[in-house]
Amino acid sequence: MSAVFEKKIHKTLADANLQLAIYKATGRLIEHRKHAVEGDMLPEYQAMRTHAHAVKRHTIENLAYYLEQFESNVIAHGGKVIWCRDAREVADFVLTLASERKSKVIVKSKSMTTEEIDFNERLEHYEMKPVETDLGEYIVQLNHERPYHIVAPALHLTRHDVADIFTRELGIERETVIEKQTMIARALLREKFLAADIGVSGGNFLVADSGAVVLVENEGNARLTTSAPKIHIAVAGIEKLIPRARDLGVFLKLLGRSATGQPLTAYTSFLSGPRRAGEIDGPEEFYVVLLDNGRTKLLSDPGKRQSLYCIRCGACLNICPVYRRIGGHSFPWVYSGPIGAIITPQFKGIEHEPELPFASSLCGACAEVCPVKIDIPKVLLELRAEVKQEQASQGAAVIERLVFGVFGWLVTHPVAYRAALKLSGMLGSRVDLSRLGRWIPALQGWLSQRKLPVVPRLGFRALWSDRERRVRR
Ligand code: SF4
Repeated sequence: MSAVFEKKIHKTLADANLQLAIYKATGRLIEHRKHAVEGDMLPEYQAMRTHAHAVKRHTIENLAYYLEQFESNVIAHGGKVIWCRDAREVADFVLTLASERKSKVIVKSKSMTTEEIDFNERLEHYEMKPVETDLGEYIVQLNHERPYHIVAPALHLTRHDVADIFTRELGIERETVIEKQTMIARALLREKFLAADIGVSGGNFLVADSGAVVLVENEGNARLTTSAPKIHIAVAGIEKLIPRARDLGVFLKLLGRSATGQPLTAYTSFLSGPRRAGEIDGPEEFYVVLLDNGRTKLLSDPGKRQSLYCIRCGACLNICPVYRRIGGHSFPWVYSGPIGAIITPQFKGIEHEPELPFASSLCGACAEVCPVKIDIPKVLLELRAEVKQEQASQGAAVIERLVFGVFGWLVTHPVAYRAALKLSGMLGSRVDLSRLGRWIPALQGWLSQRKLPVVPRLGFRALWSDRERRVRR
């Protein structure tokens, strides 16, 4: 385990208040979900999960087709699709557009995809400061940190923490009543909405047969973000597609229930292009940024590409005994918990995050609650096998380099070479080389399949000289 990962874990475990905050918040979410899906609440729940899994599987297996269909429908509604390979391309597009339109203020609604690409930090580097408008995101932005949880970004903060953050960052009197804190944020954010030239959102679902971007939320800030500014940009991963609008019903029911236990979230918005003639609100320009950022790498892997079915409900985080102890900020990237443990190494490259697939007890609770039936434990095991294979090959490569380095030096230094031969002849008959595996663990696997020959006491040179001597005599 990396020292940084270990340090963060110990820090979280040692903080009793934080432990209580995580435990209580995730416990509440577990109860809400349970109440919304178990018993008589939703008898068709398991059938819906099976259906959602099948739809996602079909979409991911035919992704190119649905992406093209989605693009042509967005264009038909007057919008534009921007294809981006990575974070830099997204930032370049937004910065160029902002500079061409002389835009100064950007408001944002909650989006894990923009977190994934450090969207705010990249724009701040060029002196544009996107303002988060989801209350939890606004608080963590003021506190200069990342979201703690996919669905509840400020899950780790108490109202007293929020009071301190507001006083420190906004210069206002300390306020600990949650409703009053909300009103403070609301008043400040209204000004930003009115001043904003660009609104940026994510996309919970992209509907191929209509070209719609679907957003779910509870605060109404996403609706303002997408309708008040003149320009709207939705940034979404390519895996967010679903083929037909009529599949949405199942996904919306599953997402609300799995995330917060709600039958549906308070607002569901369908964005279909810019404002049309006669409409009273909506943006004049509408863009959908489709992001790869490592996703296409997964498509060729039939076992692990199910990781792309995720609808970011956060249920696997809440139920996970590891997440409930080590929290969201112990994880190295924006995605935490079981889903973070499988997508982070796959998006970023397993060599960068080899410890993550092991950050799990493999209890299987995550797979039981996943609304799209991702077999997270199976993917974790496959990733673990990859890490072990990689480590074994690296260990073998080091030994191989060492052995051939020594051999190369010996064969170019005749005196040393002859001495080494003599020594190995003397030792060879006394030392059992098959025991090498006990001393060098990296060789154990290799030696388990091979029997090493015994080094003869006399080598070819010694035998030849001996023969020559005898012939001369
Ligand atoms: S892996 Fe499943 S449970 Fe976890 S966030 Fe994604 S959809 Fe939700």
